[in-house]
Amino acid sequence: MNDANLISPVPLYINGEFVNSSSNQWIEVTNPATNAVIANVPCTTESEIESAISSAGATFEQWKEVPVPDRARLMLSYQQLLKDHHDELAQLLSSETGKNFADAKGDVWRGIEVVEQAANIASLMMGETVENVASDIDSYSLIQPLGVCCGITPFNFPAMIPLWMFPMAIAAGNTFVLKPSEQVPLTAMRLAELFEQAGAPQGVLQIVHGSKEQVDYLLAHPDIRTISFVGSVPVAKHIYQTGTQHLKRVQAFAGAKNHMVVMPDAKMEQVVNHLVGSSVGAAGQRCMAISVAVLVGNASEIIPELKAAMQKVKPGVSDDSNAAYGPLISPAAKQRVLNLIEQGKQQGATCEVDGSHCQVDGYPDGNWLGPTLFSGVSTDMAIYQQEIFGPVLVCIGVETLDEAITLINNNPYGNGTSIFTACGAAARKFQHRIQVGQVGVNVPIPVPLPFFSFTGWRGSFYGDLHAYGKQAVRFYTETKTVTARWFDEDIPDGPNMTIHLR
Ligand code: NAD
Repeated sequence: MNDANLISPVPLYINGEFVNSSSNQWIEVTNPATNAVIANVPCTTESEIESAISSAGATFEQWKEVPVPDRARLMLSYQQLLKDHHDELAQLLSSETGKNFADAKGDVWRGIEVVEQAANIASLMMGETVENVASDIDSYSLIQPLGVCCGITPFNFPAMIPLWMFPMAIAAGNTFVLKPSEQVPLTAMRLAELFEQAGAPQGVLQIVHGSKEQVDYLLAHPDIRTISFVGSVPVAKHIYQTGTQHLKRVQAFAGAKNHMVVMPDAKMEQVVNHLVGSSVGAAGQRCMAISVAVLVGNASEIIPELKAAMQKVKPGVSDDSNAAYGPLISPAAKQRVLNLIEQGKQQGATCEVDGSHCQVDGYPDGNWLGPTLFSGVSTDMAIYQQEIFGPVLVCIGVETLDEAITLINNNPYGNGTSIFTACGAAARKFQHRIQVGQVGVNVPIPVPLPFFSFTGWRGSFYGDLHAYGKQAVRFYTETKTVTARWFDEDIPDGPNMTIHLR
C-alpha cells in the first residue's frame, strides 16, 4: 500500500530520523470514542528493523562513554520538556485511548516521575568497595551498561509504560529500541520528538512499529540484550519463553485480577468511593484496577450503596469534564467484556448494575460500556477467573480475613491488592501473608513511586528484576567486580598455588 493513500502514516524513528516505512502492511489507529481512523501505523519491514538495531548498536559504542552526569542532565532536560508539554501530550494520548483528560494527564505524570528518577542515575549506578580483602588488595564493583535494550508496550498507558523503560535504560548507558502498541503509537512518537529536543543524541532511542511478526523478529535478534514487555498473559508467556530461549534477559509484566478486601470496621463511605474509582476508572483498563471486592462479614451490607454510587457514574468523551471515564480501546475489546458480562449472568451471579447497553449522546459509534456490578459471585465463574479489563466489579462474600487471604493467594495473579480496615493488626497480618507484589492499606491502587520498583508477582510477572527504581538499573546493567593490588615495594612473593588471595 502506498502511504500517500493513508491517513497520517506514523513514521519510524531510526538513527535520529523520522522516516516513513516502505511496508505494504498497515494497521489503522482509531479514536475509540468514534472509531474514526486517525492514523495508520506500519508493520515495519525486516530491513527497517535491522537498520534500527544496527544504528542502536553503533550508537551504544559512543553513548556508553558519555559521562554519567551528562546522561543524567539529558534526563533533567527531558523531564522539564515533558512538564512543559504535559497538556499537549495528554490531549494526544486522549485522542488515541479515549481516556478523559485528567486521567490522561495522570498517565503522562507517572511517566515524568520515572524520568525524574532516571536523572538520579549516578547514585543508582554506584558500585561497592571493600578495602583490604587480602593484604594490600582491594575489591570494588563497576556497574556497566549492557548494549541494545528493547521494549514492547501495551495500549493502556501510552506514555507511562514506555517511560518506565527507555529513560532508565538510556540513563544507564544503553541504547533502546521501542515497539509501542500498534493501537496507540502516536504518544510514543511525540515522546521521541521531545526526547530529541531535550538533546538525546541520534540513535540512542529507536522506534519501530507493528505487532506479532515484528515482536518475534526482535525477540530472536542476537544483538538485542534485554526485553522489557508489558501486556496480556498469553503474550507475556510467549515473550518470556522466546526471549529467554534466545538467551536474553527478560522482564514480562502480565495481566491481573486485583482484589480489595473490605473489613467490617472500614469507613464505608471511603470504601464505596474507592471501589468505584478503582474499578471503573479508565474503563477498568488498568493492570492495577480493582476488579474483585472481597467483603468480609457484614461488609456485604455496602452492596446497595455501592450499586447507587455505580449508577451515578457515566462514561464520556475526553473533554467532557463530567465524564468519569472513556470508551474501551476497540469494538473487539468491548465485545469481549460484553461476552463476559453475559456469562456472569448465565452462571448465576446477580447483575446489580448492567452497563451493557450504554450510549453516549453524540457518539453513537464509540466503544462505550457503563459501570457493571455483580454480587453473589463464586470462584468457578468466568467473571472471577478471567481478567475482564472493563468497567466491571465483582463482589464475593467471605466470613473472615483468613478466608479472604486464602482466596487471594489461590488466585493465579499477584499484581496488586488492598485492604480497607481501621485495624492495624488486620492490615499487618494481610500485608505479611498475602502473596501479591503490591499491597495497599486503605489505598486502592498501590502503584509504587519510581524510587521503589513496580513489583507484580506470580502470574502477573515473568522474570526477576522489575520495572523502574533500583531493580531497573540492575536489569539494564551488568556488574563487574575488580580485585586489585598495586605493588609499592618488592615483597618476597613466590607463586601462590592456592585459591586464597595473599
Ligand atoms: P497485548 O498483550 O495484546 O499487547 C502488548 C504488546 O504485545 C503490544 O505491543 C502488541 O503489539 C504485542 N503483541 C500482541 N500480540 C502479540 C503476539 N502474539 N506476539 C508478540 N507480540 C504481541 O496487551 P494489550 O491489550 O495492549 O494490553 C492490555 C494487557 O496488558 C492487560 O492484560 C493488562 O493487564 C496488561 N498490563 C499489565 C501491566 C503490568 O504492569 N502488569 C501494565 C499494563 C497493562
